[in-house]
Amino acid sequence: MSSSSAQSVKIVENIQRIRQVIETCCAQYHRDSASVGLLAVSKTRPAEDIRAAFQAGQRSFGENYLQEALEKIQQLDELDIEWHFIGSIQSNKTREIAQHFSWVHSVDRLKIAQRLSSQRPESMPPLNICLQLNVSNESSKAGMSLETLEQIIDEVMELPALNIRGLMAIPAATDSFEQQRSSFAVMHNTLSKLQQSYPQLDTLSMGMSNDIEAAIAEGSTLLRIGSAIFGARNT
Ligand SMILES: *Cc1c(COP(=O)(O)O)cnc(C)c1O
Repeated sequence: MSSSSAQSVKIVENIQRIRQVIETCCAQYHRDSASVGLLAVSKTRPAEDIRAAFQAGQRSFGENYLQEALEKIQQLDELDIEWHFIGSIQSNKTREIAQHFSWVHSVDRLKIAQRLSSQRPESMPPLNICLQLNVSNESSKAGMSLETLEQIIDEVMELPALNIRGLMAIPAATDSFEQQRSSFAVMHNTLSKLQQSYPQLDTLSMGMSNDIEAAIAEGSTLLRIGSAIFGARNT
C-alpha cells in the first residue's frame, strides 16, 4: 500500500532531487554516476519514513543506534532492505550488529573487527566493513589515526568472516568547500595507497547532506545522506 502523507511525498521528492545532484556532480567531475551509491541515513526516523523512501526505490539504509535499528529492522522485515550500521560501536553490541546488518562503516579499532568476525553467524555471508579514519585530527572525533590503520590493516584483512571494503570518515563540519575537499582527499590518497597491497578495496564511504559535491569530487563511492532526504532531525 502506498502512503500519501505530506511527509512521504516530500521524502520521495528529496530522493529524486539528491539523485539529480549526484548526476550533476558526477558529470562535473567526470565520474560514472553508477559508481556513487546512496545510503539513506534513517536514524531517529520512524519506519514509515523508511517505507516512503523504499517506495522511491531506495534499498540501503544506515542506522546509528542499535536498539532503535533493531526495532525498525523487525518492523520492516518484509521489505528487501540492506541495513548498514554507521554509529559508534561499544564492544558489548558487536554480537547483535554482526547478526542483523550487511555492512558496518564505523569500525574504529582492531578489537571491534575481531569481535564482529568471530560473532558473524556462519549461515550469513561475510560482513562488509569500512574502517573509520579520523581525517580531522580532532581528539573528540571517532575514527582511527593513519598510523593505527597502517599497524592493523594486515591483521584486519585476515579476519575470515569480514569482507573489508574500504574506508569511512566523518570530517569536522565546515562550510568551506576547500576544507571539505582536503579532508576527503586524505581519504582518497589513503585508499589508493592501500589498494597497492589490497586491490579488492573498492569503497570510500564519505559525503553527507552538506558536503556531497566535495565527496564526489574526491572519489566517494557511498554517500550517507540523512537530513537532505528525511528533513532536519529534532534531536
Ligand atoms: C547522521 C549521519 C549521517 C547523515 O548526516 P546528514 O547531515 O543528516 O546527511 C551520515 N553519516 C553518519 C555517520 C551519521 O551519523
